[in-house]
Amino acid sequence: MTLRLHLKPGREIPLIRGHPWVMSGAIARLEGDESLDEAGVLAADGRFIGMATVHPTSEIRARLFSTVEGETLNVHGLLDRLAAARDCRQRWLAPKTEGMRVAFSESDGLPGLIVDRYRDTLVVQFLTAPMDRRREAVVKALTEVWNPRTIWERSDVDARRHEGLEPRKGLLSGQPLDGPVSFDEGRLHFLADIENGHKTGFYLDQKSSRARIAAWVRQLGAPRVLNAFAYSDSFGIAALAAGAAHVLAVDSSAGARELAERQHALNPSSEPGRREYRIGKAFETLRDLREAKERFDLVILDPPRLVSRKDRLRQGLSAYKDINLLACHLVAPGGLLVTFSCSGLLDRELFGKVIEGAARDARRSAQFIEELGQPPDHPHKPGFPESAYLKGFVVGL
Ligand code: SAH
Repeated sequence: MTLRLHLKPGREIPLIRGHPWVMSGAIARLEGDESLDEAGVLAADGRFIGMATVHPTSEIRARLFSTVEGETLNVHGLLDRLAAARDCRQRWLAPKTEGMRVAFSESDGLPGLIVDRYRDTLVVQFLTAPMDRRREAVVKALTEVWNPRTIWERSDVDARRHEGLEPRKGLLSGQPLDGPVSFDEGRLHFLADIENGHKTGFYLDQKSSRARIAAWVRQLGAPRVLNAFAYSDSFGIAALAAGAAHVLAVDSSAGARELAERQHALNPSSEPGRREYRIGKAFETLRDLREAKERFDLVILDPPRLVSRKDRLRQGLSAYKDINLLACHLVAPGGLLVTFSCSGLLDRELFGKVIEGAARDARRSAQFIEELGQPPDHPHKPGFPESAYLKGFVVGL
């Protein structure tokens, strides 16, 4: 028996353009064995659109993973996709990159599966019920493709609740963890706190921006840097290695500072006299710095997702505006602001407008000199704006 999912008229259009989600309201009827969690998706006129994983009640009812009829996400299908994703990473990333996202959900034809690799350790997130059900096949396929030392699960994320799943974390296969895992990114040495850190332990998605920030530090020549929302201060490590005179990191998390200390200790250019890490709320700390008339040649702002729901867009936008306004005041004349948003619901154009407004209110004439975004191991799909969540600007002030 198979399962076929018939769409309402016109609802195939976004899917054909690359959007992989079938919302519950787009479905006319199901035909076949409804206990299955994979289906062929058909347009109202019967045209085949693609193969999808299916959830019986979730708002996102189906997620396309292939346009080839009959393809399936069994262990062979998983193996093929994971091997293809590995080959792309090997072609696209610089050779000395030991930290990389090796499966990025819909972007790699693996809806609901995230896999990050830190040297020889893999960290997995199962985000949907169909992928969660395939956990054994996923572990088997990952073992064959990557031959890892450890496979660890970090499915302790809210997104699982939409699929009726509880948070989960722990060892899936191989050696237990023995503290944070070290890995290299070019000349830089980093630590992923896989058990307790943010995301899967590290912000792999800022890889390209670390390289660009290092390049700007070299260009400016020994700038004073403020790294706000620093987490383990990876931007600070990149900046110091590129010759920054001093880095002040700010984050509200005490655990992040501890991790930052351990990361800095691995990097010879992170001399203690060239850096400071303040625990504090960024909004308050930046205000204090402004009042103390501190100025920086390079200010980095990488806040957490400030727009998390469509109906809270306004509040989110005003938070972005406030923090960027403060940051503009802290940039010395001729200096740079490097500012990010990881809110998938906020597109690049609107984020740019917020930055323009912040600079205007700070009475600074802004020049947008570079756009930053996701690295090659976090590819986004055309027609699927949600997969392009991370955007940044380098702004001359
Ligand atoms: N730039 C970091 C990632 C930052 S993620 C990197 O490249 O590794 C966002 C960070 O903001 C988290 O570390 C979180 O602890 C911190 N944070 C969240 N709210 C904050 C606040 N109000 N003030 C300061 N830091 C905050």
